[in-house]
Amino acid sequence: MTPLLETSDLQTFYGDFQALFGLDFSIAEGETVAMIGANGAGKSTFLRSIAGLNTQKKGTIRFAGEDITRLRADLISRRGIALVPEGRVMFPSLTVEENLLMGLGTDRAGAWTLKKVYELFPALTSIRHSSSVRISGGQQQMVAIGRALLTNPRLLLCDEISLGLAPKITNDIYACFSEIKASGTAIMLVEQDIVRACQAADRFYCLLEGRISLTGRPADFGIEVISRSYFGTG
Ligand code: ATP
Repeated sequence: MTPLLETSDLQTFYGDFQALFGLDFSIAEGETVAMIGANGAGKSTFLRSIAGLNTQKKGTIRFAGEDITRLRADLISRRGIALVPEGRVMFPSLTVEENLLMGLGTDRAGAWTLKKVYELFPALTSIRHSSSVRISGGQQQMVAIGRALLTNPRLLLCDEISLGLAPKITNDIYACFSEIKASGTAIMLVEQDIVRACQAADRFYCLLEGRISLTGRPADFGIEVISRSYFGTG
């Protein structure tokens, strides 16, 4: 089967500094894949490279059969790739609902509507007219995911959504992924939390200092082996 997204020998740079070293990665339509790695391993750089935000790169990124390596970020978004950025990133002067509506900019048709996002995250309904900076971190994360879903993406890139959230809130948010997956959207979860990511994902990639140190199905390795690869001790 042709992957939905595939990177071949992807290398990304910040000036003279090389952050990613030849990553070969793929995700199929409707698949959930985790990329796990410690602080500074290069996870955000990888997501930003796919989304067109890091432009100093070599190698190839193909999406739905098209070479998007040199495509502008807004055009990549229109093709159906949405990024939920690390730190949630609200438009501070806008309400919850106005933040959600910012996702409608791509005009992509699909299953996700404002009504469906409120069904996915009922907690947002009663605060829809509240300022997006006066709500909790968990609620902000829901807004960030909902905003990305409203672009009706074929691929949803999530950057460390559990960061800074209480475990119970993170559980609630992770519970929504099965519904997002059921809608046919492929999901890429970037995480430092090995256990959580491996529970949610069909496959994983472990990133260590800009290189893939292990990949496969979580059940084929087990958490101990994956942890050793994560910390570079295995
Ligand atoms: P974290 O979990 O802390 O977000 P990460 O795995 O997402 O880490 P990246 O943020 O992608 O890692 O960083 C990968 C490497 O690139 C690190 O060595 C980091 O210092 C470096 N880096 C990231 N952003 C920049 C930048 N704007 N300029 C220079 N170096 C950068």
